[in-house]
Amino acid sequence: ALTIGIVGLPNVGKSTLFNALTKNQVLAANYPFATIEPNIGVVPLPDERLDRLAKVFGSERIVPATVSFVDIAGLVRGASEGEGLGNKFLANIRESDAICQVVRAFQDDDVVHVDGKVDPAGDIETIETELVLADLQTLEKAVPRLEKEVKGRKTDKGVLDTALAAQRVLEEGRTLYAAGPAAGVDMEAATGLGLLTTKPFIYVFNLDEDQLTDDALKKQLAESVAPADAVFLNAKLEMDLMDMEPDEALEMLQGFGAEESGLNQLARKGFHTLGLQTYLTAGPKEARAWTIKQGWTAPQAAGVIHTDFQRGFIKAEIVSFEDLMEAGSMAAAKAAGKVRMEGKDYVMQDGDVVEFRFNV
Ligand code: GDP
Repeated sequence: ALTIGIVGLPNVGKSTLFNALTKNQVLAANYPFATIEPNIGVVPLPDERLDRLAKVFGSERIVPATVSFVDIAGLVRGASEGEGLGNKFLANIRESDAICQVVRAFQDDDVVHVDGKVDPAGDIETIETELVLADLQTLEKAVPRLEKEVKGRKTDKGVLDTALAAQRVLEEGRTLYAAGPAAGVDMEAATGLGLLTTKPFIYVFNLDEDQLTDDALKKQLAESVAPADAVFLNAKLEMDLMDMEPDEALEMLQGFGAEESGLNQLARKGFHTLGLQTYLTAGPKEARAWTIKQGWTAPQAAGVIHTDFQRGFIKAEIVSFEDLMEAGSMAAAKAAGKVRMEGKDYVMQDGDVVEFRFNV
């Protein structure tokens, strides 16, 4: 499964956020290095469509898609040189598919800031500098090796060109995710070289309760990380929400001008950042969301349920969720001509409700 690594400077609220994510208590304490072992939290992707599908099909249960988060131990300045928990940190990042950076905006004199002041832009720069330096180190070793291999015709020159183009971006202090595509870096090849900053970034700003309704501040923070996604939340509030009844939690959120929890927003945006989407299946047993990559074809999607479904794929009977709801039942959707038969070249759309036909 694809995972999102949660990183950030010490004392920005990572553990608090992660505790809320998993509802499992891991040690959260007011000092650096509070989180040492990486932990994995698998959270459901909120999807109201499943409730409605379950009603139409009389399904016994609902199975949502999930998003996996890995809590990665504290990054400090100098991590790329192997100080502190640096090496382990970098190895954990290498295994993640996207990087979720928790950034502190909340003010609290009782919570020490490692650099002495609350400075979101400065913190982002500190973390990204470490990742950029790690990539530059990787390239310092890779480039001479690639040059030799290209001379010996063992490696395509394109790979060396990618390495050099990536080096130029990184030397300017930019991440490849933010600046690589515009600079003509072949991102897939760069990922193949083991570079970390090609991974998609998503930013979680941990705000004070009164900052949660400060639209000007949120706009400014969102713009500072665009085009990456930004999520705004208060990690302590997210913890409290976990202990409340749904109605009570919603009322609380609405008090802050929000319709859903920060964690739900994070799951949703994380899912999007990973380039994933869902399709739906439903029957008397379950209404279920299945995770696929954007752009996958019908047989690839069928393979997520079972490899036999992909191998023996014949066709897919598909209706869009909206059309199905408008018709009110599968039979009515069919009668209205809204149910299509799609072949092996069909590219799946988010919210397709599907039944696969296959040979075994
Ligand atoms: P980590 O080192 O990034 O994992 O940070 P923790 O989650 O351990 O949080 C460090 C300290 O900050 C703890 O005492 C938390 O209770 C506190 N904290 C976390 N989130 C917030 C927040 O949103 N507001 C305030 N005031 N304190 C927070």
